[in-house]
Amino acid sequence: MALRLDGKALAKEVEGRLGAVVLAAASSVGRPPGLAVLRVGDDPASAVYVANKEKACARIGVASYGAHLPAKTPPAEVLKTIQELNADPRVDGILLQLPLPDGLDETPLLQAIDPEKDADGLHTLNLGRLLKGEPGPRSCTPAGVMALLKSNGIDPAGKRAVVIGRSILVGQPMALMLQAANATVTVAHSRTADLLAHTRNADILVVAAGRPEMIGSEHVQPGAAVVDVGIHRKPEGGLCGDVRSADVESIAAALSPVPGGVGPMTVTMLLVNTVVAWCRRHDLEHGLDDLIV
Ligand code: NAD
Repeated sequence: MALRLDGKALAKEVEGRLGAVVLAAASSVGRPPGLAVLRVGDDPASAVYVANKEKACARIGVASYGAHLPAKTPPAEVLKTIQELNADPRVDGILLQLPLPDGLDETPLLQAIDPEKDADGLHTLNLGRLLKGEPGPRSCTPAGVMALLKSNGIDPAGKRAVVIGRSILVGQPMALMLQAANATVTVAHSRTADLLAHTRNADILVVAAGRPEMIGSEHVQPGAAVVDVGIHRKPEGGLCGDVRSADVESIAAALSPVPGGVGPMTVTMLLVNTVVAWCRRHDLEHGLDDLIV
């Protein structure tokens, strides 16, 4: 039976550490760290994600400065809101909740976020910093995967890692992080021929294809560590990932559950980026280096 890569438990532990950092320094700084989550429109899944992020902020003493704009807001007005948040001294992290409503192009809006306040690590400058191994806020989901692997004693160095998916949000930064941790990385995608031949070689398999339960035991090398990034609502109710967990857990050495695996760690890494940005601005020691990829 595979080791459970328990993101919920790790998220709780990391939140405890973040809360302690905030508590220790907030009075000397004169304000808590601040995270602004900017939501445009009424995507129901986004509403749940934003509420979860705000609850997580409250648990560790981070102030939330959410803004919710109507779906029909003109791009110039969204841009103006971002510029106001950039200038707001109470705000250390800004997150533009995706997806945006039709008609709003995310590219110029993500570009407008001050790179030092880029809580999601998706600004071009920060993706470039990741590529070059320079410090900066990192994309939350892949950084959360790295933290999950590390806390379970899975060191990518010298291993063969396969990442399924090449999105800017997950697959590409994931591949860069695994490579920076000295894995030999293959990126598979929708045009990959003979996916099985690649995945069956993987010591570490990260699945971020967005295809419900596409990966079964036939794709997995016995003893591999499998991280399931996918998250889907099942028609009959409940959630599933991109991996058929019941099938894979009998042969994998480690497997992340859905829910309770990568999802909670994504939110936690958003908090890490915000607290670290606050510490940097105020020249504070944070002791969180082990969480920074
Ligand atoms: P995306 O649709 O932008 O990218 C999917 C990638 O998978 C693409 O690069 C595509 O080429 C590849 N792909 C699709 N079908 C494939 C196939 N049959 N074989 C091989 N590759 C295939 O999605 P994304 O934003 O990267 O997200 C991926 C999944 O992760 C989604 O289910 C999303 O909901 C989930 N997600 C979860 C979290 C979390 O916190 N748990 C965060 C972000 C994304």
